Amino acid sequence: LTERSAEGEYPSAAIVSVGDELLLGHTVNTNGSWLAGRLSGLGLHVVHQITTRDHPSEIRDGVSRALDLAENVFVTGGLGPTPDDLTRDAVAELLGLPLETDSHLLERIRDRSRSLAVAKPPPGVERMALVPSGATVIANPHGAAPGLLVETGSKLLALLPGIPREMRDVFAPGMEAFLLKRLSGRLQPVLHRMVHTAGIPESRLAERIEEALGSDRGPVSLAYLPHAGGVRVRLSVRAWDTKKDADAWLDRAEARLAAVLGPYRYEARSGHLAEAVGEALRASGRMLAVAESCTGGLISKLITDQAGSSAYFLGGVVAYANSVKVGVLGVPESVLDEKGAVSEEVALAMARGVSDRFGSGAGIGVTGVAGPTGGTEDKPAGTVWYAAVLDGVARARRARFPGDREAVRTRAGWAAMLLLLQMLEET
Ligand code: ATP
Ligand code: MG
Repeated sequence: LTERSAEGEYPSAAIVSVGDELLLGHTVNTNGSWLAGRLSGLGLHVVHQITTRDHPSEIRDGVSRALDLAENVFVTGGLGPTPDDLTRDAVAELLGLPLETDSHLLERIRDRSRSLAVAKPPPGVERMALVPSGATVIANPHGAAPGLLVETGSKLLALLPGIPREMRDVFAPGMEAFLLKRLSGRLQPVLHRMVHTAGIPESRLAERIEEALGSDRGPVSLAYLPHAGGVRVRLSVRAWDTKKDADAWLDRAEARLAAVLGPYRYEARSGHLAEAVGEALRASGRMLAVAESCTGGLISKLITDQAGSSAYFLGGVVAYANSVKVGVLGVPESVLDEKGAVSEEVALAMARGVSDRFGSGAGIGVTGVAGPTGGTEDKPAGTVWYAAVLDGVARARRARFPGDREAVRTRAGWAAMLLLLQMLEET
């Protein structure tokens, strides 16, 4: 496979997100990330993102800069009826195009008002029928502000509404079909593989992976993407001659990772560990019951987030107080007194207790100090004992998880699910 210096050869794209709320930090720019993902997926190279305020000259400058930087420019926001929606006018002025009323759009706006039993469209609404002369209109199935496509010289300028649902449904399928046609033959999607890991810190993971891959990795590049429960590793090939070659490089890298990641790797389409646990339970024909103290029901929540989980999940007990650990789960009082609630013995007794009482082949028990208060010298905040049991055979682990209360609870839940998954995979 010969590497190419890709930029230049593939169609480039820039995204301009318009809105004061984005710069004030009130709204997360989900449109920018969604569009970037879709465009990259189609095979455009997204080279810049610009965010501007709702101000005519700033929108003009942002769009003008984006047109200098990329061949295809996508603008979201500011197409609505309110006085702070200025994108349409700013773009028309920048390109020197007059705004013309699109009679179909106007009719549609008036129809909508009639169907909403409004005598006359509110002021400003009819402005949404104005389009820069020569623009292609892409219908908006949810609102009045359409998508607009303007070809200017060799460049394409696309305007999309700001409301995320409207933006998405204007982009696909309408705008996407236009792009595929215009750029046909020049598009080459980036190829990705996602490898999911849990239970191993990012730095140790990277050490193992870099050693396993060495320098002989062809066109494959890596990204480490940590999240609350684990780390995803994305393998990508950006520029390729034949898909077969690119796939072969990716297969090779994936196999090398699998060889060194062992029990820390799991497979799940959704990326969620609970999906992998569910599939393994389903395959083993066992039902699961969980006993949770510091995770407060989080594991039950994560397991039941999966559609169809009733096939392998019986239920759980949130055993926060010692009296519940004793009375409901049968944890011996003497063990609690001697070892303390956060101990190997209690985690094991919780896992065994819940699977005995529920009559399940698989069980989980988790007990720990979620913090930030409640820690002691030998059991500081973040200390968690977790256990899993399969047909009466139990295993427990201790961990000291970093982070705030939410992070400790999430990590504890994931660690316990991973332990169970590993035991299921061994049988
Ligand atoms: P409308 O036709 O509804 O007026 P518009 O094109 O004028 O749409 P805006 O007024 O800019 O869009 O934004 C409408 C809503 O969409 C706002 O509540 C805003 O928070 C949200 N929104 C706008 N831009 C983005 C973005 N980049 N990411 C996420 N949400 C956004
Ligand atoms: Mg606005």
